[in-house]
Amino acid sequence: MREICLMGGTFDPIHYGHLVVAEEVRQQFSLSKVLFIPAARPPHKTDKIISDPIHRVNMTRLAIASNPYFDVSTLEVERQGLSYTIDTVKEIKKIYGVEKVYFITGADAVLEILSWKNAEELLSICTFIAATRPGYDLHQLADTLKLLPKEVLKNILPLEVPALSISSSDIRRRVKEGKSIKYLLPEAVEQYIFNTKIYQS
Ligand code: ATP
Ligand code: MG
Repeated sequence: MREICLMGGTFDPIHYGHLVVAEEVRQQFSLSKVLFIPAARPPHKTDKIISDPIHRVNMTRLAIASNPYFDVSTLEVERQGLSYTIDTVKEIKKIYGVEKVYFITGADAVLEILSWKNAEELLSICTFIAATRPGYDLHQLADTLKLLPKEVLKNILPLEVPALSISSSDIRRRVKEGKSIKYLLPEAVEQYIFNTKIYQS
């Protein structure tokens, strides 16, 4: 394997928005592996309560089970402490011995890349795929990216994906309010949420 694609996220819970983006990237870039990496504790979400990594890993496993190109990595969850993408990309390169690493982010997350740890180095060792997401403007993204040097800019590829206005926070809210979450995420994940009652407190 020469190339690998990473999809980082909190996945609390994973939903069809994540899955459709990953599948679209896999197909458009002819990739043989997309690795979903649930974050231990994302640096930008330290103020929020996040479900136990075990639950987020379990739900991610259930969600990707039917796709032979998808896998889950517990690397960040096992590392403990804050998860920095730069450390993850370097580790993945070593473990899989790949030449090229892609990293998928939604248009909202990619706007924040510049604030990530060692942003310029990160952009030099990894190609970002910035997927469209309802509510986040790719023009705004283009304006932000203009601030970057050219050699860095060539490592961010905007990508149009089928728009799904789904978010994990909305799903958690719906569960709390006793509303339906059917068709927003795979049925196995929906079942898991109801069996474990993780969002009901
Ligand atoms: P939360 O509402 O808790 O922030 P989320 O739905 O944004 O959850 P994350 O785990 O934060 O999910 O997202 C992981 C990655 O997936 C991010 O790069 C995010 O931009 C992207 N993403 C999430 N939902 C969508 C969607 N509906 N369409 C495109 N990209 C998405
Ligand atoms: Mg988010």
